[in-house]
Amino acid sequence: MKQFAIIGYPLVQSFSANLFNAKFEREHIDAHYDLYPIQHIEECKGIFDLPNLAGMNVTIPYKQAVIPYLDELAEEAAAIGAVNVIKVSERNGKRWLKGYNTDVIGFRESMRLILKPYHKQALVFGTGGASKAISYGLKQLSIGVQLVSRTKKADTLTYQELTADIIRNHTILVNATPLGMFPDTNDCVPINYNALTPDHLLYDAIYNPDKTLFLQHGEHAGATIKNGLSMLNGQARAAWQIWNQYEN
Ligand code: NAP
Repeated sequence: MKQFAIIGYPLVQSFSANLFNAKFEREHIDAHYDLYPIQHIEECKGIFDLPNLAGMNVTIPYKQAVIPYLDELAEEAAAIGAVNVIKVSERNGKRWLKGYNTDVIGFRESMRLILKPYHKQALVFGTGGASKAISYGLKQLSIGVQLVSRTKKADTLTYQELTADIIRNHTILVNATPLGMFPDTNDCVPINYNALTPDHLLYDAIYNPDKTLFLQHGEHAGATIKNGLSMLNGQARAAWQIWNQYEN
């Protein structure tokens, strides 16, 4: 039986585990997907040695910390600096671990479907792992990216610096912070929502709840809104393809 695994902490629930175990059962695939909530990244070495390991996911807080333990990085994962999928294969009789970032694939593919020609500039809220993958994906779609952070850095604006004009001139707004995620559903990024127009596209990486307060503000202004569910499904589909594609 092939084994798939996810590392992260805390890891009480996993979308990927539920999705893949249901797929294995439905499609009579002889495989199992298990959760490994590890408290320290060094513990990943024990999991990498599992005899029938065929593929892994990596989640918070190890998407960056896992990189030194891998043999190779796919180009996008290296550019983003974060890995959420590991392909396990053999090379010269040795186990070979290659890291990928499929968050960017899930985001890019879901975004591509809803973009309009006037969507050229984006504000991305937050500067963590999701923000890095999303910003990279936006640039691949030829969209200019301005990061917004609670902390002033060379390449970021703070929330206090966001004028109504800046919001009007950036018709894509992406929430890549945890603000608004269940159970704190009354939170949203502190911006001037009165500056939103029907030309705006609001994308939230969060998928629980399915319509965050951020997206509700967008809907109220007549903007296009999209939650993170298709990004989540897209990253899992891409992971399955990577685990099953032959590479030499
Ligand atoms: P993360 O690495 O913890 O980063 C989140 C960023 O949000 C931080 O770097 C921070 O940026 C900002 N932030 C954190 N707390 C904040 C607060 N109280 N107020 C304002 N800003 C705050 O998390 P992540 O992995 O990037 O995930 C972010 C969100 O995306 C989560 O809700 C996660 O569930 C979601 N996500 C969804 C998918 C999907 O497939 N749909 C995939 C990955 C992540 P600054 O310090 O610069 O302000």
